[in-house]
Amino acid sequence: MKKKYNPPFIEKTDVGMTNKFGFASVVDYQDNIEGVPVEEIVAKYDSPVMIFSETAIRNKYREMKTALQKYYPNSEISWSYKTNYLQAISSILHQEGAKPEVVSIMEYDMAKGLGQSGSDIIFNGPSKRKADLEQAVTDGASIHIDHLDELVLLESVAEQLGITPRVAIRVNMDIGVYPQWQRFGFNYENGEAMRTLQRIVTGGKLQIVGIHTHIGTFLLEASAYYFSAKALLELAMQLKDKFGIVVEYIDLGGGFASKNTLHNQYTPGEFASPNPEQYFAAIGRAFNEAQFTREENPKLIMETGRILVSEAGYCVSSVIGKKDLPTGQKAVILDAGVNMLITAWWYNLNIKPAQPLSGTSRNTIFYGPLCMNIDAR
Ligand SMILES: *Cc1c(COP(=O)(O)O)cnc(C)c1O
Repeated sequence: MKKKYNPPFIEKTDVGMTNKFGFASVVDYQDNIEGVPVEEIVAKYDSPVMIFSETAIRNKYREMKTALQKYYPNSEISWSYKTNYLQAISSILHQEGAKPEVVSIMEYDMAKGLGQSGSDIIFNGPSKRKADLEQAVTDGASIHIDHLDELVLLESVAEQLGITPRVAIRVNMDIGVYPQWQRFGFNYENGEAMRTLQRIVTGGKLQIVGIHTHIGTFLLEASAYYFSAKALLELAMQLKDKFGIVVEYIDLGGGFASKNTLHNQYTPGEFASPNPEQYFAAIGRAFNEAQFTREENPKLIMETGRILVSEAGYCVSSVIGKKDLPTGQKAVILDAGVNMLITAWWYNLNIKPAQPLSGTSRNTIFYGPLCMNIDAR
């Protein structure tokens, strides 16, 4: 058989990068997804195609649940709808036992459409209109208040409907995670959160059932959860001491990092991201240190998003053509771009050929199909 001709080329040696002068750059390939040949998938569904592994989602959920049970059994996981509200994905997580956490009435309706009871829904987000609140109050959903105007509106809705809504407040705080998400909820350090709780008690129209925070996303420090749990437990303790109100739950939001690697991250996510065990150990420690009696111990709710699905997805794309750029760099044009995979903007996605490649590998830039300069990785 004739050997394939590989034209000679000159490549700049980048210090610290692998190339033909460093260790051999073997390009790993993947021709199947959990045993199903990629070729077969493309023949059936065409290209480009997004694929999610049900097994991977279920396994991740169970890993999370097991770790959570170990460190704080009085707990549950809510599925953050905005992370991925494909019906199939949300349904899998509901089958596993996750309740819905939504940030808009659109997501709220989606959860109900999937057979979830309104009283199991956690309704978050900064933008809830009057009609949205009326719906949630009527259903008995847990409404997490974001700001004072929402509180006032909710009180008037409660009065109108003659129902006492179940509420929590969202709290923001400075626990060393930057940029600090000050835009959501009431501040902890300046006393605004406690004043708001007091305001709700004085108003007498809403029932405080929980306290909530969501400090950020892709948090690589498990200890951040220790501090945020401490702060919310402290608020819960004050609520009990001052007004005799014992909350049902502490909701620590989401934010666990998946094993993906961010563009600006030096250590690969595989090594840098804490495991669920490490996150829950930190949270469990805060709960163990709290001085609640056995009966009063609040339930812990986690509103998990990306860690459950980020590692379960694949995007299969085909090469439309190849190019040499004026800089000498190689480029490949694909039929999937940031329109299919917006996560390419923050994750350093692992791009693999679906068949073995021959010849020397070279640094290549990937262009998507859009006629926009932003569609490149
Ligand atoms: C997005 C979001 C989550 C999920 O966050 P992840 O970082 O994906 O785990 C949880 N709670 C709220 C309020 C959110 O907005």
